[in-house]
Amino acid sequence: MAASGAANDAAAATGLRLRYDVIVVGAGIMGSCAAHAAASRGAHTLLLERFDLLHQLGSSHGDSRIIRDAYVKAQYPPMVRLARRLWAEAEAESGYRVLTPAPHLSMGPRGNAALLAAVKSAGAEEVDLSQMWGGAFQAPEGWLTAVSEHGGGVLNATKSVAMFQALAVKMGAVVRDNAEVVDIRKEPEGGVVVKTSSGEEFRGAKCVVTVGAWTSKLLRSVAGVEIPIQPLHTLTLYWRIKPGRERGLMAKAGFPTFSSYGDTPVYGTPSLELPGLIKISCDGGPPCDPDNRDWASGDREITERVARWIQEFMPGHVDSAGAPVVRQSCICSMTPDKDFVIDWLGGEFGEDMVVGAGFSGHGFKMGPAVGRLLAEMAIDGEARTAVEAGVELGHFKINRFNVQDQQVKG
Ligand SMILES: Cc1cc2nc3c(=O)[nH]c(=O)nc-3n(C[C@H](O)[C@H](O)[C@H](O)COP(=O)(O)OP(=O)(O)OC[C@H]3O[C@@H](n4cnc5c(N)ncnc54)[C@H](O)[C@@H]3O)c2cc1C
Repeated sequence: MAASGAANDAAAATGLRLRYDVIVVGAGIMGSCAAHAAASRGAHTLLLERFDLLHQLGSSHGDSRIIRDAYVKAQYPPMVRLARRLWAEAEAESGYRVLTPAPHLSMGPRGNAALLAAVKSAGAEEVDLSQMWGGAFQAPEGWLTAVSEHGGGVLNATKSVAMFQALAVKMGAVVRDNAEVVDIRKEPEGGVVVKTSSGEEFRGAKCVVTVGAWTSKLLRSVAGVEIPIQPLHTLTLYWRIKPGRERGLMAKAGFPTFSSYGDTPVYGTPSLELPGLIKISCDGGPPCDPDNRDWASGDREITERVARWIQEFMPGHVDSAGAPVVRQSCICSMTPDKDFVIDWLGGEFGEDMVVGAGFSGHGFKMGPAVGRLLAEMAIDGEARTAVEAGVELGHFKINRFNVQDQQVKG
């Protein structure tokens, strides 16, 4: 069906029109994993990225993402388990190490239903925090504090994306950056034509769209479909550890990743990527336009909320008096129910376009699983691995949003 790998490489270099089995649009963690999964199946695969590879304008950059079993909704732990197996396989195949194991601490008011569900799903054991990690945490009276010891940890985000891109290329995929997709057309005889802003056109039997915060814009423009995915401007904050406390808060000392379910939904990772600093941030942020960001709205409020949390929960170990030492901006792509979108677009495109989007601030850990499912949906028209792994894809359908009828493009 597809042209040879060498011919495809030449086509990608010259912009000639040639046919791929699968064209993946967007090279964040989801697109990079999907391209690797498709190429591993022997599909001639093209991965197109609008900016430089490993850029910092989307959602998948930075040094750390939490992987944990503690989940409020039952549809996610099976996907985390599938992903964990695929993370291990990718590490073995590439020789990279991207996952640093760590326990996970969940804490919050004892009656908090979300906390109780997360603790149950992870099989976490209640602990006396005053006896753990040198008394680094002080939880208020009446809080539940529980630790899951196995399967969690910290993923190096940018390195993970690089790993899957390298593996995709190793399996024969063509990867092109600075290639912004501006149009995707359905071919009358089946398949799609993907056009970039420089006028190049690539033909694909199938197309996988993994464009993160740009999903609503791109699908509105190419298919006239409104999918409610709202980009939020979010912040990653690193704080100075108080002198003498540095070693105890390190990953190699067994310090946990953590989630706090109080009024301020705070999360953190052990000191790892920046010695002497610890990452403590909170969920959420103001809505933003990914093409027109001011890089600052809401930063002060988020920083003050996290500083207040540190003063209450880790006053002896983390310095919140000054500003955070390092700030990094990121985007979360939120759906109304915070559940993912993993589905065929349908309408005019039928099963020729698969969409993976709306990962709502918690998708990174499941990237390899999502990529595998998207690739299977594109290649096979079904996701067999989802059935084997107990992942119920019904939760991730586009039609749960009551999407406006698809318009026929003019
Ligand atoms: C601060 C922060 C902390 C987080 N913490 C965690 C965590 O601890 N654990 C966890 O599991 N998850 C976490 N997440 C969520 C996770 O990082 C995201 O769910 C995940 O990175 C989303 O990946 P993506 O591939 O969908 O999007 P992206 O990484 O944004 O990738 C989309 C890509 O598509 C490209 N693109 C867009 N338009 C086009 C176009 N027209 N043509 C070609 N390319 C295009 C973009 O340039 C981009 O590279 C966090 C997110 C943030 C922001």
